[in-house]
Amino acid sequence: MIVNKFGGTSVGSGERMINVAHIIQREQTDTDTTPVVIVSAMSGVTNALRQAARTAAGGDPTTFRTIRQELQRRHQEAIAVCTADAVEATNLAAEITALLDWLETLCQSIYTLGELTPRGLDAVSGLGERLSARLVAAAMRGAGMSAEAVEASELIVTDGVFGSASPLMEQTAAKSRARLHPLCEAGTVPVVTGFIGATEDGVLTTLGRGSSDYSATILGNCLQADEVWIWTDVNGVMTADPRIVSNARTLDTISYGEVAELSFFGAKVLHPRTIQPVAELNIPVRVLNSLEPDNPGTIICGEISSEPLIKGITAIRDLSIITVAGVGMQGVPGVAGRVFSSVATSGTSILMITQSSSEQAICFVVRTDETESALEHVRAELELELMRGDLQRVDSQDNVSIIAIVGAGMLGHPGIASRVFGALAYDGINILSIAQGSSEYNLSLVVAEEHVDDSVRAIHRQFELGDPDAQERGI
Ligand code: ASP
Ligand code: MG
Repeated sequence: MIVNKFGGTSVGSGERMINVAHIIQREQTDTDTTPVVIVSAMSGVTNALRQAARTAAGGDPTTFRTIRQELQRRHQEAIAVCTADAVEATNLAAEITALLDWLETLCQSIYTLGELTPRGLDAVSGLGERLSARLVAAAMRGAGMSAEAVEASELIVTDGVFGSASPLMEQTAAKSRARLHPLCEAGTVPVVTGFIGATEDGVLTTLGRGSSDYSATILGNCLQADEVWIWTDVNGVMTADPRIVSNARTLDTISYGEVAELSFFGAKVLHPRTIQPVAELNIPVRVLNSLEPDNPGTIICGEISSEPLIKGITAIRDLSIITVAGVGMQGVPGVAGRVFSSVATSGTSILMITQSSSEQAICFVVRTDETESALEHVRAELELELMRGDLQRVDSQDNVSIIAIVGAGMLGHPGIASRVFGALAYDGINILSIAQGSSEYNLSLVVAEEHVDDSVRAIHRQFELGDPDAQERGI
């Protein structure tokens, strides 16, 4: 059995929903089994819902109403396209209206309270998938298939961490098998909402922004699927962002570990938590293009091919590098520990850390919008040392980016770093900091934001990533 996930652009209009129905219809015929489908909200809908909740909390009584109207219009338009049956269209419209009425009531309460809790934000955010799943199921019925919309809050049981909940796998497995197997066996395609789950008490949670991929692999694991297919609007995982590198190429295969590194470092192919549930059972994942369904896409699996040496290059922007420096740090144990715990209490996540061997400076990289708060916490923690002059600097440099170079082939292969540095030096690009992950899958560099695109291009060129023949030669 195959679990198929369709992202927001793949279900972004009535026409696209019909396209999804045709893809699944063909798959059902070709494989002679009924697949499970997971859908995202129509593109842009989750953002609009969150804006509705936020503006309501901020004391704005009108924006959420405008957003509601706009969502109603967009889904109504899709209904008109994806179902020809008048009764179905009327019922569907009534369901959509009821859900959007509920949205308006919820936003009205948020407005009255002037407060938005993480729980409330999840309830609002998850509505987009609850709308789209109903429409996609209708589009399938319109194409003559049997299909039923299923809310993942009935299937995925999570902890209560609103905004980035984690699944409780045993309970999820039991529930999803009990609910989905009978449907598939009867030839009815379950169209499941991505992104959401519910606590044991039935309170709606979300698994984090962009997490419908994760919903798909959670269900892939629980249903012991043969494969998970992630349908998106590009032809698979690429060597670099094609908007930056004109000859970026689609990779045929990539390993779980490599794709996880690329996702962590901002290549928007998969949600970073997606891989774990499938890696556990060695279930292959394909990344496919719903607009070019015959394109073979990229297969993500467990075997690590060490060729080519480098699979991809990615960049995260809008970062700052924080430096804690001073002669007094030398040989004093615990400074690093205190720095990082104080950053942790500020709720900031650290993307990369380096310390020079002379122990006179620790540098770490955080998102720019979290820098002020991280700095405050570190300064408060080290107040005494700063006052005594043991430490001279706790400061930040904004407008930097991390460039991550990913590939299992780098493992134990000497000379990669020097080729990277050589390529950048040749283009006159200054490297601010360097780190290599312990997995050796990943070499990360910090450069000034203005040099990001040139750096990615220079490294891509150096390793001839755009040339499939060079790749076969293992360059
Ligand atoms: N709709 C959700 C989001 O935009 C989840 C997803 O698309 O994967 O974050
Ligand atoms: Mg997505």
